[in-house]
Amino acid sequence: MALANENYLKTPETYCFDEIDKRVNAYKVLHPNTRIIRLGVGDVTRPLPNEVVQAMHNAVDEMSRQETFRGYSPPQGYDFLIEKILKDYRSCGVSLDKESIFINDGAKSDIGNIGHVLGRDNIIAIAEPVYPVYEHATIMSGRAGSLTEEQKWSNVVYLKCSEETAFVPELPTEKVDIIYLCNPNNPTGTTMNKTELKKWVDYAIEHDSIIVYDAAYQAYINEPDVPKSIYEIKGARKVAIEIRSYSKSAGFTGLRCGFAVFPNELMVYTLMGEKVPLIKLWSRRKGNYTNGVSYIVQRGAEAVYTKSGKSEVQDLVRYYLTNASIIRNELLDAGLEVYGGISSPYVWFKTPDSQPSWKFFQQLLYDYQIVGTPGILFGLSGEGYMRFTGFSSREGTLDAMSRLRNNI
Ligand code: PLP
Repeated sequence: MALANENYLKTPETYCFDEIDKRVNAYKVLHPNTRIIRLGVGDVTRPLPNEVVQAMHNAVDEMSRQETFRGYSPPQGYDFLIEKILKDYRSCGVSLDKESIFINDGAKSDIGNIGHVLGRDNIIAIAEPVYPVYEHATIMSGRAGSLTEEQKWSNVVYLKCSEETAFVPELPTEKVDIIYLCNPNNPTGTTMNKTELKKWVDYAIEHDSIIVYDAAYQAYINEPDVPKSIYEIKGARKVAIEIRSYSKSAGFTGLRCGFAVFPNELMVYTLMGEKVPLIKLWSRRKGNYTNGVSYIVQRGAEAVYTKSGKSEVQDLVRYYLTNASIIRNELLDAGLEVYGGISSPYVWFKTPDSQPSWKFFQQLLYDYQIVGTPGILFGLSGEGYMRFTGFSSREGTLDAMSRLRNNI
């Protein structure tokens, strides 16, 4: 009899955002002719940079010729891309070894996969509200324990992250082993500056913990005191894995490419107390479980680092950030409590009259035909909040804001 991994049954059957689509579809059936504006999505909407498209066309041509055809990619990724990544890090004062970069098919896979190279008994810390994948990966890997009456997982340490902390996570009072940090954060759009992040690096050094640093929104950083990489903080190479993605910067959500950094200095321990460089385990995992990302896509990612690639990516990011700033200013003008939208495409705000998230979601949909993401989808502490994103079109963003003006 084949047994199931029952931990999977402890997570929701469908990804948590499907409920939004269900409700929007129900609305559409009753109101087929209304124009709905989606400010809820975390997906990009603008096409790929031309430079990326050209590079991929060229790569397709190469694949069609005998002399330039390529088979399997090296499991870690092609040198041509890794070299550009290293140069990019050097431009912000961070020097990394070539072996520490692992190209992946986007940040999400590695966020989930990291659990495979870490012992099962590690205590995981997660800020809440949170990108749901950190918690789901913890549950599926059997590390979460059981669900308590307060709807929290017994073995997970939830980092305080609320109005009181301006939605920046607070250090735990107990010892934790693995800490997921997202900077700039999804869903709150808030950022940690160098001083705040240093506290986490120091904590991790003191407790032999590891930080899984999700920098998927790194390209959106607009504030000078917010580090572009965790490795700008002294000592971080000993404790942090950094994960980046081309999804939200260069529009790769459908193409799939990103990378993770596993510095040589980062150690984990056996039960006998022996030190093991985590990169050694990760290399084994990569070699055994994946044949990497396609040559064509890696050539597309490489094009992001050319002069015009960089400028096209900057334009894309600026476009979404301008939308976010339009939303942020409108909500502030309406007198709401607002976070994010400065170094992030996300704007997080308290619902008017502290309404429950889903109630306000329905009001937005039925009265203004606007779709937001209810804060509760990011954890219980998101209740009473809503997330809007700058990923809509400029026209849609302006239209949505004028629908709300003087009404909320
Ligand atoms: N990390 C965060 C915080 C995200 O919001 C997302 C996607 O929305 C991801 C990772 C996944 O990004 P990717 O498309 O690179 O898998």
